Amino acid sequence: MTTALVVGAGPNGLAAAITLAKAGLDVTVLEAADEIGGGVRSGEGTIAGLIHDHCSAIHPMAVGSAFLSGLGLERHGLHWKWPEVDCAHPLDEGDAGLLYRGVDDTAAALGPDGRRWRRAFGGPSRNFDTLSQDIMGPLLRVPKHPVALARFGVPTVLPAAAFARIFRTERARALFGGIAAHTFRPLHYPLTSAIGLGIITAGHRHGWPVAQGGSQAITDALAAVLADLGVKVETGVRVTSAAQLPPAEVTMFDLAPTAVVDILGDRLPRRVARGLGGFRYGPGAFKVDFAVQGPVPWTNPAVKDAGTVHLGGSFAEVAATEREIHAGRMPQRPFVLVGQQYVADPSRSVGDINPVYAYAHVPHGYTGDATEAIIGQFERFAPGFRDRVVGMAVRSTTEMSVYNANYVGGDICTGAKDIRQLMFGPRTTLQPYRIGVPGMYLCSAATPPGPGAHGMCGVNAADVALAALPR
Ligand SMILES: Cc1cc2nc3c(=O)[nH]c(=O)nc-3n(C[C@H](O)[C@H](O)[C@H](O)COP(=O)(O)OP(=O)(O)OC[C@H]3O[C@@H](n4cnc5c(N)ncnc54)[C@H](O)[C@@H]3O)c2cc1C
Repeated sequence: MTTALVVGAGPNGLAAAITLAKAGLDVTVLEAADEIGGGVRSGEGTIAGLIHDHCSAIHPMAVGSAFLSGLGLERHGLHWKWPEVDCAHPLDEGDAGLLYRGVDDTAAALGPDGRRWRRAFGGPSRNFDTLSQDIMGPLLRVPKHPVALARFGVPTVLPAAAFARIFRTERARALFGGIAAHTFRPLHYPLTSAIGLGIITAGHRHGWPVAQGGSQAITDALAAVLADLGVKVETGVRVTSAAQLPPAEVTMFDLAPTAVVDILGDRLPRRVARGLGGFRYGPGAFKVDFAVQGPVPWTNPAVKDAGTVHLGGSFAEVAATEREIHAGRMPQRPFVLVGQQYVADPSRSVGDINPVYAYAHVPHGYTGDATEAIIGQFERFAPGFRDRVVGMAVRSTTEMSVYNANYVGGDICTGAKDIRQLMFGPRTTLQPYRIGVPGMYLCSAATPPGPGAHGMCGVNAADVALAALPR
């Protein structure tokens, strides 16, 4: 039987393992942590019984993932829950941009910019399932649906700052800017519209759901599929050198590209080692989980129904703070992403104590403490928040990279989304999953289509590996 080894058990490693096992390979997974799941885990952290997502929280790309939805994960306990409002972006004057699953509902809430929002996102979201066949893989290949892709793709080339000019109101501009900021890049750079347009379009098709009981439910359901397929999983095994790798016809690395260089050393062709060794990481995330008594006291009452809240003020302010962290400077009022998963999934709360998730965008490897800056952003849009906090757990950028070595310097995207890495992947090549050693592949979020709990990097890499096996 053909053997396969997967190093790293994040969603992409698990997706690769499942794809290879379904093709009949004998698969073993090695994971450094004591449990599988990588960036898709949850559990207690503040007060007993309160469930916090340790990393991934909101899943527009996972719910629509062709791979995940084809596994029947609901049989293994995965149930998606949708908030009434997908995302809210409060402004200083009490106004807020509100993103609903429906384009029409969003347009109605955006008032004078509603027509422009509908024109920008209505068509692509109707075509999302077709489009995803092209955008959930390497960008530089012959597209399956060139016309739909071209219509979607042209605006993605724009800097987010240019795209935002189609809107006249701050409400719409800021709403778009907060979502575009998921790219962790200065918003006047080309291609910074791409990730925002992808998430908005996916969201209008599938919503921004959370997993009932915590994101851990995604990993638990994948673990059940692995068990059904007879995949062997060994946890607590950190691979640091090639000598540790048992022989296998196929080896997949669900790792940061520079870790693969460290592990394989001279076994990598020099040009590949240079390419992967020069891989660039982006800014970091500084995370604080709060236990909060009652709801967050948002000035704008509609914000309390949102699963995700972006705290960053106007588009110009978000753009300025993203520019600062990119330059290695910590802004006083950073961009903060808030998760109110309990709104859609009350099972995570204990009585009237709710888990509130927040992380700030900070410079790569930031060594300071961003807790007060995060609380300050809450206080700005929800005065009195601080008084409702009854518990708190902090994870700095250093702790983030200890928790999961793929998050180098706290970079939760596993790599900067600059033009070269967005277009080509981890090095300049048309074969982003190959690393120049026969039978060995990279399958982490550093490869296309990039970060998210969708598993598609793992599936794509496994398909390349299977195609290369002798018949
Ligand atoms: C704070 C935070 C918030 C996020 N929010 C969202 C969100 O809301 N929605 C969303 O879709 N995505 C989100 N993400 C991103 C998402 O979690 C990642 O993109 C995704 O987990 C990447 O999957 P992966 O399989 O490539 O790698 P990872 O999930 O990072 O898994 C890699 C695995 O490899 C293991 N490993 C590392 N080095 C070694 C080694 N040397 N030997 C053995 N094992 C090793 C690690 O322990 C880990 O288990 C978030 C991430 C973070 C950190």
